[in-house]
Amino acid sequence: MKPFAYARPGSVAEAVRDVTAEPNAVFLAGGTNLVDHLKLGVARPELVVDVRTLTSREVSDLPDGGIRVGASVTNSELAADRRVRERYPVLAQALLSGATGQLRNVATTGGNPLQRTRCVYFQDVTTACNKREPGSGCSAVGGYTRYHAVLGVPAALPDATAPETCTATHPSDMAVALAALDAQVQVLGPAGARTVPFVDLHRLPGDDPSRDTVLEHGELITAIDLPPLPAGVRSAYRKVRDRASYAFALVSVAAVVAVEDGQVADVRIALGGVAHKPWRATRAEQALSGRPATVDSYRAAVAAELAGAQPQPGIDGGNGFKIPLLTRALVATLRDLTPEA
Ligand code: SF4
Repeated sequence: MKPFAYARPGSVAEAVRDVTAEPNAVFLAGGTNLVDHLKLGVARPELVVDVRTLTSREVSDLPDGGIRVGASVTNSELAADRRVRERYPVLAQALLSGATGQLRNVATTGGNPLQRTRCVYFQDVTTACNKREPGSGCSAVGGYTRYHAVLGVPAALPDATAPETCTATHPSDMAVALAALDAQVQVLGPAGARTVPFVDLHRLPGDDPSRDTVLEHGELITAIDLPPLPAGVRSAYRKVRDRASYAFALVSVAAVVAVEDGQVADVRIALGGVAHKPWRATRAEQALSGRPATVDSYRAAVAAELAGAQPQPGIDGGNGFKIPLLTRALVATLRDLTPEA
């Protein structure tokens, strides 16, 4: 492991100042992903700034009926919070489907959405990877793509060495639920505080796959707000994976839906395991809104969302299986949430 300096400042403002001052500095929260990357040589910071005891570890009620989750609230604490279990079951289920109990006990609300892809090549510094080193190439082209993206991928991928070539997926379950819940991210940075809609936090590879989010250097997530949900809304998270626990999603679905008089009155859907970012399924939502709450409608909505999907070939058989798998997972999730359908 490359040596680095370690700092434990006395306040959030000091932590932001310390990271901002060192271009190669990172924040440390639960460390469940960063510490792995330090050992693997994927992350090679000069300075690690520990914020574990600086940001809030409380879940508080907001005046609009929503809740604010401090960045240091652990995944276990958040999943057990009565308000989350009762009002946002999609989030509690997503949290409990992630990692293991031991990891959830230390992983934090601010850190979980910022975990990095588990693309095997990204974590192996002996291979080419545009996300680790833009322009070095993408070893997933012609390699293992079982866990890779099918949405948000150009119809014709540029050459593997093009800096923008990256089909890695975002690994967080929690982030998929937060995207469906229209969460708002509270951020403090060198330019002050700002709020980022969760659906805009993560980015597609674009011209720089090394950047997973829109956060600038020195910006720290201090809390995540969940807006209130309308009465009658139900929600659920469904995750499909290679084994029953401690595995990342092949595909996952976070759905929030309300039905009135047999029609879909409110629907929010986010997908995991299929894109470079938690994927808000806006085409499916548009196709469903105001439509009869039937399995036929659900199938049509999935088809609308997946019309632009780009399965990737691979030496492991590729990831074309995600299209029927996601179709079944999304239809089943919506069907279970709307037994009157
Ligand atoms: Fe790297 Fe992305 Fe290619 Fe994986 S898919 S090797 S993360 S550039």
